Amino acid sequence: MKTNSTIWVIVLSFFTFISSQAQVSRILCGDALYKEYLNQKYPGFKESYEKTLQQISEQVKNNQILKTNTTQYTVNVVVHVVWKDSVENLADSIIYNQIQVLNEDYNRLNADTINLRSIFNPIVGRAGIHFNLFQIIRKHTNTLFNVNLLSGGMPNQMKYDSLGGSDAIDPTHYLNIWVCKIQPIMFGNIQLGQILGFAFPPNNLSNWPSNSGAPDIREDGVVIDYRCFGRNNPNVLTMGSQTITIKGRTPTHEVGHYFGLRHIWGDGATLGNNNCTGDDGIQDTPNANNQSNFDCNTSKNTCVDTNLGWTTVDMPDLIENYMDYSSEDCMNMFTQGQVNWMITTLTGPRSGLLNANSITELNQSVNFQIYPNPAKEEVVIYSSEIQGPMNVRIYDISGKLIQNLNVELMNGKAKLKLNELGEGMYMLHLINEKHSKIMKLLVD
Ligand SMILES: [Zn+2]
Repeated sequence: MKTNSTIWVIVLSFFTFISSQAQVSRILCGDALYKEYLNQKYPGFKESYEKTLQQISEQVKNNQILKTNTTQYTVNVVVHVVWKDSVENLADSIIYNQIQVLNEDYNRLNADTINLRSIFNPIVGRAGIHFNLFQIIRKHTNTLFNVNLLSGGMPNQMKYDSLGGSDAIDPTHYLNIWVCKIQPIMFGNIQLGQILGFAFPPNNLSNWPSNSGAPDIREDGVVIDYRCFGRNNPNVLTMGSQTITIKGRTPTHEVGHYFGLRHIWGDGATLGNNNCTGDDGIQDTPNANNQSNFDCNTSKNTCVDTNLGWTTVDMPDLIENYMDYSSEDCMNMFTQGQVNWMITTLTGPRSGLLNANSITELNQSVNFQIYPNPAKEEVVIYSSEIQGPMNVRIYDISGKLIQNLNVELMNGKAKLKLNELGEGMYMLHLINEKHSKIMKLLVD
């Protein structure tokens, strides 16, 4: 009976979802739906998530973060291109471009800052986060990444080699972004909508209730539909007769979730209005009772705000914010409150990102091989281009450092004994003074 009633609730939601919209098809970010799914799969998740956000909020209130942020933080990014049809196998130039968009948007260097209505100038924030493209991993797949809200919610197969995806690289220290085709949300033959992306929210593991059953760390990261990645992406995303403007802002938005931000209208209103009762937990953002609909409606003012802390005038909805669902033409800013929130997350629950290996140069063109793979007792590292000393760090799948070795490539080769490793998947991080590459090794 429990199962039946769970399904019934979801079906009811679908009908609310359909009837509240003039058009059947709708585009959305999967964040709220994903959290709902996680809460079903891992009881206690929502409570824990709220608790972590509450803790961050307290830290911000206590001025542990400077109001004006001048620090520059570097986050290393691994992009997994998991493609089935060749159009999904995005060119390097598109990936580089998306990283550039992230760097512009998180440093207020975007060209469209001029479009912000001047009434919001007092609260503009600069996050000071620099995204460094650490590695691109390409994986051909035959898997369809279906969104199935009736049974499983957001797909996770793109995050596992064994399910047709690509295993995360050390999610504690690297921001993993999977780019793939997210299949539309279907109800029978009716297309209900399209998820553009979804992100795993932050959590502070030490604060989780002991019985909460934390989601697998291998699923931590951001998933983006291949049509929404890069401002120079040649693919076109349409819903019905509407063509969606893509300017690389879906990743900006999803990475915002990854750093703990909520939608500016509060996450309770994904399927309708929230009567201004839902809030994003950020003081300086004007509240909204619902999302923008991928438009640029500057007359939208759905809630009366009297407690923003920086003005006593009722402000219109902040459609220029990256955490709304406005057209990507209109989005151009985070607020200072959002920046404080993100930096508190980055230096708190996500501080592992700041302790990644400090290799700032992407050089994955170097030809490394490891064989045999799978391996049993030893593995050979081979490169036709590299000689001399090399540091080899072996991580388990959760990102825990297992071994840190110095080897010498003689005639391009070095042997590693694997006696101390149990069976399983490992990440070999090969580093010399100019090159860095992470490779997966299966020990069986
Ligand atoms: Zn979102």
